[in-house]
Amino acid sequence: MVQFYIPLNFLGFIYREIKQAIVDIEAMFAVLAVAPEVKDQPAAQDLVVSGGTVRFENVRFSYDAGREILKGVTFEVPAGRTVAIVGPSGAGKSTLSRLLFRFYDISSGRITIDGQDIRAVRQESLRAAIGMVPQDTVLFNDTIAYNIRYGRPAASEAEVEEAARLAQIDGFIRATPKGYRTEVGERGLKLSGGEKQRVAIARTILKAPPILVLDEATSALDSHTEKDIQDALERVSEGRTTLVIAHRLSTVVAADEILVLAEGRVAERGCHAELLARGGLYAALWNRQREADDAAMALARAQAAD
Ligand code: ADP
Ligand code: MG
Repeated sequence: MVQFYIPLNFLGFIYREIKQAIVDIEAMFAVLAVAPEVKDQPAAQDLVVSGGTVRFENVRFSYDAGREILKGVTFEVPAGRTVAIVGPSGAGKSTLSRLLFRFYDISSGRITIDGQDIRAVRQESLRAAIGMVPQDTVLFNDTIAYNIRYGRPAASEAEVEEAARLAQIDGFIRATPKGYRTEVGERGLKLSGGEKQRVAIARTILKAPPILVLDEATSALDSHTEKDIQDALERVSEGRTTLVIAHRLSTVVAADEILVLAEGRVAERGCHAELLARGGLYAALWNRQREADDAAMALARAQAAD
């Protein structure tokens, strides 16, 4: 029995240590999700963000030897612009966001922010410059207010509430038993995927980073919630360099550039109209989604008529 309890206590200890030691949600992502092999160079300087231009130059990467995930990817997100990445599941879209955070080092090529190679800057300064709304948001077992304030620990109560309002989660929070003091997570109130995502958006609004990475995961949401989240995301990304990984093509129509990632390469690039006219992969993805949407709409109409 004793042997059984020790590991559990030890895990609890680690959990509390992690919870107190990290100063940023992205850091927690790093602790939980990836190996801590990436170290600051002794001469690493703080990243200096002027406009926030992000460049991937011929980036190659593999998680495991023998299976290359990215096979020479090149693109730029000019300062303040939005670039969308679409493509089949497993193409390496989320991997791009992990590499921008430098959770892993690439095998060749370069990733730069305003001309600075991200391997040459302090990781803390890199992660402070980037806000991420991940596909799966992890919440702390703490109050809703704590979970939002994590984006900027010095934020006032009014600022936390304003961020929640912009993320369209304020109404939901007010309807919970203790409002902003309601405990969430495993030991508290369970939030749906969409609610968690909006908490992450509020956190990011509060953090107000120059560079944003949005890994949308709205496929599981009803269309009303999805629209709310898209509106909230659009508001956050205004004027910020934004890399959006779009699962729904309807969200990429307005992007400055769309990249279609397939089998570790940029298979097509251009704006929505150009890609549709090309009649390639993007056009096929678009048409397939339109058909699925039409079918869902017809089904909903038939059910409503019953
Ligand atoms: P996408 O976001 O486009 O669906 P990902 O970037 O998540 O794709 O994954 C790209 C590929 O890398 C997939 O084949 C996936 O199985 C693999 N992969 C993702 N994470 C890891 C990991 N931590 N270790 C090994 N392989 C991984
Ligand atoms: Mg993904």
